[in-house]
Amino acid sequence: MYYPEPISKLIDSFTKLPGIGPKTAVRLAFFVLNMKEDDVLDFAKALVNAKRELTHCSTCGHITDQDPCAICGDHTRDDSVICVVQDPKDVIAMEKMREFNGRYHVLHGAISPMDGIGPEDINVPPLLNRLKDEKVSELILATNPNVEGEATAMYISRLVKPSGIKITRIAHGLPMGGDLEYADEVTLSKALEGRREL
Ligand SMILES: [Zn+2]
Repeated sequence: MYYPEPISKLIDSFTKLPGIGPKTAVRLAFFVLNMKEDDVLDFAKALVNAKRELTHCSTCGHITDQDPCAICGDHTRDDSVICVVQDPKDVIAMEKMREFNGRYHVLHGAISPMDGIGPEDINVPPLLNRLKDEKVSELILATNPNVEGEATAMYISRLVKPSGIKITRIAHGLPMGGDLEYADEVTLSKALEGRREL
């Protein structure tokens, strides 16, 4: 044990974050020790509040501090189109583009048999319920352009097809193997515009 316990605990916590290796974790931990106490308290509060006050919208699955979320609660949006994405960050990427005025459905993952993730492990059943209840005429499948995203799009397409709802898949202007959230707004906008029917 090289460090006093409070520091080694802090280092351990930083190590759990994505993209933070052991060296960076040590650097961040010592940085925190040198911060003003008020700033450290604000940081700690922001972490706890983000976790405690955010929940998933019971309609679409997006992260929100109110239920339904601001998007589901917005009566000016188009109820006839639902865009299906894997992650809340994808909703934010789509919203930044300011071109889509429909609804969303967040799956919180993708089907991946290799990792033991099946259709029942992601937010699919509530989507099927929404399609029963609402006046949806188009379902846009905007899962990531990689193997898992494609498999998920195909699975949902097969499930929903018999209902007669038009099913589209965003175009592959997106880099294959990439994540939707990293696409720039122009690429994402073109991908949405060029969507094709499945
Ligand atoms: Zn919602």
